Amino acid sequence: MPLPTDTVPPSDFTPAQTEAARLMTVCNSCRYCEGLCAVFPAMELHRDFSAGTLDHLASLCHSCGACYHDCQFAPPHEFSINVPQALARLRTESYARHAWPAAAGSLIARGGLTLGLGTVAAIAALFIGLIIWNAPGALLTAGASPKGFYALMPHGAMVVLFGLAFFWALLATAMGARNFWRAAGTPTGLPDHLHAAHDAARLTYLDGGDVGCYNADDQPTDRRRLWHHLTFYGFLLCFAATSVATLYHYLLGREAPYPWWDLPGLLGIAGGIGLVVGTAGLWQAKSDRLEDLKDPESAGLDRAFIAVLFLLGLTGLLLRFLGETPVMGPMLALHLGTVLAFFLLLPYSKMVHGLYRYLALARYARDKH
Ligand code: SF4
Ligand code: SF4
Repeated sequence: MPLPTDTVPPSDFTPAQTEAARLMTVCNSCRYCEGLCAVFPAMELHRDFSAGTLDHLASLCHSCGACYHDCQFAPPHEFSINVPQALARLRTESYARHAWPAAAGSLIARGGLTLGLGTVAAIAALFIGLIIWNAPGALLTAGASPKGFYALMPHGAMVVLFGLAFFWALLATAMGARNFWRAAGTPTGLPDHLHAAHDAARLTYLDGGDVGCYNADDQPTDRRRLWHHLTFYGFLLCFAATSVATLYHYLLGREAPYPWWDLPGLLGIAGGIGLVVGTAGLWQAKSDRLEDLKDPESAGLDRAFIAVLFLLGLTGLLLRFLGETPVMGPMLALHLGTVLAFFLLLPYSKMVHGLYRYLALARYARDKH
């Protein structure tokens, strides 16, 4: 049985933990970057760096690149200090270490674009097969049916399938967060969580100490914060659209499809646009980043996360606007495939970083008072 993370002796650290501990020890002596973000003030509260504390610090980092840009000890200096890259590597490793069940953590190591898009394609193909088997001929004609989506798949089947996938995602993500908190957390109270919620909602520390994030052209910009906000709030609006539609169905007895101007339609359209624009921006921002800041081992996980969220928004919007045409059937299969793949992969995707970062911010709020 593996040791709890916080009791792992430094001699048993992984290479990513060893490197992060080395950098934090150097930075703790230097402290030049203490005004840039939450990582350095949080680091200064420690003299030694346990595995749990390193996970905590890694989750506070937004990879803005400011400390690398400002560092007099960055490569080619012999100290070779590259905090954003080392913490990015450690973050990805921590997602796998805290995953639940533990055996599924290996999915994170393999969680590249191929796995993400392959899962979407496989589930979409499965849905197309089920639709053809259940209602031959309906795949390309259901768009004209007044029953809408339900001409292809009964409402009850959708509720059971997606309800199970949703609760699996919730359970596995909550267990992963519990593992992270056991290793990297400290007791926190309501004021700490209010601070954390405020900083998470505003992405307070994603500004490189007020100038923005560093790219290959060495010009800091603040667009990464915009793309993150569009993605995050777009996702919340899509979730709100589904929740309102569920209330319509069960409380008001109003069945889908709903017109675009009704609340589920408006929330879904606004959320879909946010997801598509935000993830497209994040994809481009990844390409624009200074190469030295990137961790090659995390690249696949990052890209898969962005691509699946992009598809989620795009297929939802296409379904909204092409829902009464012959492509509705294939589009529904692709959208449902994306949603189901999203839920199944969520606990093993980059999506957990939002939750771990929130917990790290709560601990930071607690520690600094
Ligand atoms: S990143 Fe470099 S400049 Fe900043 S605190 Fe660490 S050693 Fe000092
Ligand atoms: S990359 Fe940005 S957020 Fe991360 S430690 Fe450096 S300054 Fe802080």
